[in-house]
Amino acid sequence: MRLRAAPIDSLTMDDLTFAVRWSKRRRTIGLTVGRDGTLRVLAPARVPARKLESVVRAKLPWVRRKLAEFEALGPPPAPKRFVDGERLPYLGRSYALALVDRPSGSGAPFALRRGRFELSRGLDGEARAAAVAWYTARAQALIEADVQRYAPVVGASPDAVVVRDLGKRRWGVCEARTRSVSFHWELVLLSPDLIDYVVVHELAHLHEPNHGPRFWRRVEEVMPDWRARRARLAACGPRQVV
Ligand SMILES: [Zn+2]
Repeated sequence: MRLRAAPIDSLTMDDLTFAVRWSKRRRTIGLTVGRDGTLRVLAPARVPARKLESVVRAKLPWVRRKLAEFEALGPPPAPKRFVDGERLPYLGRSYALALVDRPSGSGAPFALRRGRFELSRGLDGEARAAAVAWYTARAQALIEADVQRYAPVVGASPDAVVVRDLGKRRWGVCEARTRSVSFHWELVLLSPDLIDYVVVHELAHLHEPNHGPRFWRRVEEVMPDWRARRARLAACGPRQVV
């Protein structure tokens, strides 16, 4: 009788150690590199260890490139605490936060007023949600205006402009089938010329779904300095414009 070896739960290649997750549903071997440097292999059940090793080894150059990119970005920004005097970003600048007993103007619990952010005191755990609601509304207004401005230049008008939380991996995405373009609300934290780049990029996808030469030609016609903007956007974090 032969004993079946227990499946490995980690795999070390040179100086890199991957956690291995086995899955009955997966068909292909996948690798992920976390911003914090965690390495994972997602493996279909029953893939032989030798096969797993050779696939991972072939992808080591990509893994090292990713790790170097993340290292160059530095540690991820600390989560905001919404305390008095903290600085919060908006359109590429930062503004001090003031906790107030009674918000002025419209009375919204979070808003930029007279050059500073105001937040109603005592929101505690809901402060972040109030801030995200404000940022999202600003992003929707600014990005819609941007789409209006660039749609005639790019020669493509979407049926829907959606602003929402697109997660940690994407700034924007174009759904050519439904002619809708979606953007991450966090774009509004960045400087306006970077928002413009993401808008032009997604509008261009209404013509060209892929990143082929024709796609980039179209972007270049509208925005000759798109390369510099793309590089600056990449320096803002690991999200991609897809
Ligand atoms: Zn794209």
